[in-house]
Formats: sequence, structure tokens, C-alpha cells
Amino acid sequence: MEINLKGRTAIVTGGNIGIGRGIALALARCGVNVAITCFSHEEEANKTARELGTTLSFQLDATDSTQVNRVFAQIAKAFSGQINILVNNAGNLVGRVPIAEMSDEHWRKVIDVNLTSAFYCSRAVIPYMNSGWGRIVNMSSLAGRDGGGAGAAAYAASKAGVIGLTRGLAKELAPKGITVNALAPGLILDTPLQNNFTKPEVQQATVARIPLGHGGSVEDVAGAVLYFVALTGFVTGEVAEINGGVWFA
Ligand code: NAP
Repeated sequence: MEINLKGRTAIVTGGNIGIGRGIALALARCGVNVAITCFSHEEEANKTARELGTTLSFQLDATDSTQVNRVFAQIAKAFSGQINILVNNAGNLVGRVPIAEMSDEHWRKVIDVNLTSAFYCSRAVIPYMNSGWGRIVNMSSLAGRDGGGAGAAAYAASKAGVIGLTRGLAKELAPKGITVNALAPGLILDTPLQNNFTKPEVQQATVARIPLGHGGSVEDVAGAVLYFVALTGFVTGEVAEINGGVWFA
């Protein structure tokens, strides 16, 4: 089946590397004009923008609503006032800290980067998603379902919050023709989050528990985005469980 999204416009936050880059490239292959944001890896953002054939690459701290509003207005201007698709992919595990040792600052940082950022970006895009067809896809995680791995309780709470935000937004935005869905990936191999925060032996032990017998790929997550964005307009408030069956094992 050919997916044709020619003429649609999208923002992928954290679209410079890892899963976000894979999503941005998949959308672009379907004809979408994609703008990406990065936080600290600007060089990678420039490289990905070249692959996407766009100059729309912006440095953005998505935990700062003033920056979000400014950058989204700039992107909307470049897209003649219309943003059709928003993928709230930006996030960060930040660090593995047991709750008993967790500082207030760590807790807030994790909630801000994973949950508050999705709120800020969704709020900012609504005025530009006004054609009667819109898609918001939020990045949750298996952690938001099962409590996460060692020292990831704050991350799990933030990603569970993303699911609540998704369902609330889905109800609010349905009358505008906007669907809002979430992704809950499990172990996605060769990604910044896993490379930075999960030791290889822990990744191997996780793979051993996955019924399908292997970890996921960036393309597995991008495929779920295309499902929500292009293959159906009748699914909203749902969560794609992208984990090889581990949730049900
Ligand atoms: P990641 O390192 O978790 O992704 C981080 C992305 O978010 C990067 O593009 C980063 O930009 C951006 N970012 C970080 N802090 C930001 C901020 N304050 N404002 C704006 N952007 C910010 O990489 P990933 O592994 O590809 O994960 C992508 C998403 O999937 C995350 O939300 C993650 O929690 C979620 N997820 C990942 C997995 C997995 O197995 N990898 C599983 C479940 C869920 P810079 O690179 O420029 O700093």
C-alpha cells in the first residue's frame, strides 16, 4: 500500500537523532514536509535536515513554553500557517535514581522533559492545526505501563502521564478532526536512550524476556506513527504497544 501524505506538514520534536530521526525520515518518504527540533545535538540535526531535504531545523528546549511558542510560530510561518502533524518525541530518562535518593530537582526535570514538553507543544500547535485534519502522536513508553526498569520511577510516572494527556487531548480535539494517540515502545535497540542508560547485559536480559526474541528498531516505531497518521483516521486516544509482546508475556 502506498502512503501518500504529499502536501502535509509536520513537526517532529527531537527529530535529529534516534527514534525521532527515524520518524521524521519515514514521514518525509511519504511526502510530508517535516520540520525537526533538537536540544543539544545541533550537528546531528543539520545532518538529518539535509537527509530530509529541509532547512527547517531548530534548536529548542521544549521545557520552556516561551521557546516552544516562538519556534512553532516560526515553523508555522514557513508552512503558510498550517501544521498538520505533531510528533511529541522529545524526552529523556535523565538518570537512574531510586525514589528514596531522588532530589526534587531530578523529579521535576524528568516530568518537565517528558510530560510538560508534550503539553507545551500540543498547546502551541492547536492554532495552526485548523484545517479539519490533524494528527498528534505522543511518545510514551513501556515504562509508563509497567513502572520502568531500575531507578526509572520518575520516568515511568512521566510517561504514564503522557497517556493521560493523550486521552484528554483526544476528547478535546476530536471535534476539530484531530486524532491524538500515543506510542509505548519497549526496548528499541541502537537508540540514544538505551545506549546512554541501559548496560548491554541488561539489554540482553530484556531481549531474553521478549516473546518475539529480539529488540525493536526505530523503523518499528516509525511504522506505528504511519499507522496513526496515515492508515486510519478513526483511532484516537489509543496507545501502540511496540514491545515484541513482552507486556503480555
Ligand atoms: P532520547 O535520547 O531519549 O531522545 C531524546 C530526544 O529528545 C533528542 O532528540 C533530544 O535532543 C531531545 N531532547 C532532550 N531534551 C530535550 C529538551 N529539553 N527539549 C527538547 N528536546 C529535547 O532518544 P531515543 O532513544 O531516540 O528516544 C526518543 C523518545 O522515545 C524519548 O521520548 C524516549 O523517552 C522514548 N522512548 C525510547 C525508547 C528506547 O528504547 N529508545 C523506549 C521507549 C520510549 P538532542 O539530541 O539534541 O539533545
